Amino acid sequence: MHPFESHIRNVPDFPKEGIIFKDITPLLQERFNEVIEAMARTINWDEIDYVVGIESRGFILGAAMATLKGKGFIPVRKKGKLPPPVISESYALEYGTDTLEMIINSKPGRVVLVDDVLATGGTLNAVMNLCHKNKFEVKALSLLINLTFLNKFTEDGHPVHSVINY
Ligand code: AMP
Repeated sequence: MHPFESHIRNVPDFPKEGIIFKDITPLLQERFNEVIEAMARTINWDEIDYVVGIESRGFILGAAMATLKGKGFIPVRKKGKLPPPVISESYALEYGTDTLEMIINSKPGRVVLVDDVLATGGTLNAVMNLCHKNKFEVKALSLLINLTFLNKFTEDGHPVHSVINY
């Protein structure tokens, strides 16, 4: 068992029945530094220009990683939050559907995508599509937690780096 796991709370039936929600707030409160260092350690930073953080827990983790490594930060937000011009991508979530947006970019760059939990992979797929449409080359995917039983990302050859795997 990873030492971080004792700080992750399993919340049954949140936000919907049947979901076991991984609450990382106790882990962030007690071990934030170590979490950011553990996530940052998995990435080859020489090949990364920007960190792409996914609203909203991806902002907390991604922004801290970007600061630690001296990289820029690009937010991916829920529909309607970013000012135009934006590109959008709709996707299926483990609980519901949603649309994500990114500001239209004209400067090519190599990116790492950061989020807290990889579940079905719908979110990361949508963000990868946004990046490809927006001149960003996705070099790596960085997650704190990979719920490996819900997705086939690693088998499909995506460069997934996660600290805790269930
Ligand atoms: P998915 O698109 O199914 O991979 O879901 C990933 C997104 O939903 C991430 O932004 C997570 O924060 C959130 N999420 C999905 N399932 C869970 C879970 N069991 N516990 C906590 N967050 C989750």
